Amino acid sequence: MATPAPINQNPWIRANLVSVIRSTVAIATPVSLSIAGWIWALTNAAEALQVRIIPSAPRLGDTLSIVAQYDNPETNMTPVVKMGDRTYQTFLIGPNRFRTLIPTTPLDKPGILLVRTEGGGEVSNMKVQLKGRSFPTQSIWLPPGKDGDISDAEYNRVNAFKQLVTPQKFWHGPFLQPNQGPITGIYGIRRYYNGVFANDYYHRGVDYAGAYGSPVIAPAAGRVVLVGYEKDGFRVNGNIVGLDHGQGVTSAYLHLSRITVRQGDFVKAGQVIGAVGATGAATGPHLHWGLYVNGLSVDPAPWRTRGFE
Ligand SMILES: [Zn+2]
Repeated sequence: MATPAPINQNPWIRANLVSVIRSTVAIATPVSLSIAGWIWALTNAAEALQVRIIPSAPRLGDTLSIVAQYDNPETNMTPVVKMGDRTYQTFLIGPNRFRTLIPTTPLDKPGILLVRTEGGGEVSNMKVQLKGRSFPTQSIWLPPGKDGDISDAEYNRVNAFKQLVTPQKFWHGPFLQPNQGPITGIYGIRRYYNGVFANDYYHRGVDYAGAYGSPVIAPAAGRVVLVGYEKDGFRVNGNIVGLDHGQGVTSAYLHLSRITVRQGDFVKAGQVIGAVGATGAATGPHLHWGLYVNGLSVDPAPWRTRGFE
């Protein structure tokens, strides 16, 4: 009987269930062989599914890329991935290769994440350690009664945009820097309001202190799915552009002085979509760039540096 290859030498970590059963078969005594053999046959009847999680050591705010591939290239049933109480759709990204992207945020608890992938009659249960990360904090002092509440109309429109999941992937390679100004606010900053820690707040994007009127470009190709103006009630976001990059990845550009695209336009990476301004709830000219994966704001930094296939 062939000895299974050590798991740690295989970049494709096999479905835990399969590995465990194969090890059992290898050391089985004659008494248990019939039962083990029966399980062995059952296992082989299913289409083995190989799953990889990238990055292997994620930390709060990272995007998890779950890539699944069947041993049998004839199997083309689209797998689904389950983590926590959510189910994520996967998309074909290559021959016999499916992928979903799972967001993590500063509001998550560090610890073990269970990632369950189901497809073609096969189940893969994997664990990944989500590492903690300390974010800078800010103290904000607001006079009583001045809370900058967002209207339902503005909230609903922007929220619906963030939840978009469309099948076609438009981005290729790492994202470009959307404005040439220096970064003045990183992703994930936490806040105290009037001395009280805000449990639900984190800075959902990156701030670039570009000069008033300096160009804002699309960091990656996508469809313009949201154009909102301060004069039409976008009092918090200000003039805003929302791009759909496909497969659950969207991005937003806030506080613009000008918008040079229209809803429904397709933009290429590097194309100008507007200019830096101070519309909405902004204390001075800057670009706020938010990147969303399946509805949640993730750290854009890994998308800028390493990129996701
Ligand atoms: Zn910001």
